[in-house]
Amino acid sequence: MNERELRDELIATVRCFNPLGINQGTSGNASVRSGDGILITPSGLAYDQLDPADIVHMRFDGSFSVPRQGRKPSSEWRFHLDLLRERPDLNAIVHTHGVSVTTLACLGRGIPAVHYMIALAGGNDIRCAPYATFGTQELSDHALAAMRDRKACLLANHGLIAGGTSLAKALALAVEVETLAEIYWRALQIGEPVILSDTEIAAVAEKLAAGYGSAD
Ligand code: 13P
Ligand code: ZN
Repeated sequence: MNERELRDELIATVRCFNPLGINQGTSGNASVRSGDGILITPSGLAYDQLDPADIVHMRFDGSFSVPRQGRKPSSEWRFHLDLLRERPDLNAIVHTHGVSVTTLACLGRGIPAVHYMIALAGGNDIRCAPYATFGTQELSDHALAAMRDRKACLLANHGLIAGGTSLAKALALAVEVETLAEIYWRALQIGEPVILSDTEIAAVAEKLAAGYGSAD
């Protein structure tokens, strides 16, 4: 895909956030690997007003040129840039403030293997990174640690990060994790959810890797 196509895909991706019920308002953002850096959504702009010219190209050293007057890269550019620099297995990152993931994140709680689809996120759990102020290097450092060997993590008192080999895969994983979070909090209302064993999750991961519904 050329850079213009990636800009269009980035806009199409974030425009899906709110109708999919995984985000609200201008919260959330997304990025995709492109050349010597990343393309990232601008900060605080309503998704239906986004134009391809508003998308910011940032180099891996953190430098960027302002695409239009008043436009800045997403305030969360640090974890987008750090993840795409440090994680060659990921080409795209989405960040959302869905109600169910954020409900768990407000308890500082990750998601255990309450459903087999958790294996899509790369392991037997989805961690919750400790709280840090939005847009800080501290938040990025926490996020990278929580994403180790995983494609998704929660951010305490904040939301979700999901990654993938493409924007479509990252978005699909964000939808899956929002669903897992909803299943988990609902199950907690009526009892103690049964947690699947590591052996079972490894067996599921093997089947997913063989083709079915893989996040990659
Ligand atoms: P931006 O509008 O700057 O991308 O920030 C939204 C957000 O989710 C901050 O965590
Ligand atoms: Zn956020």
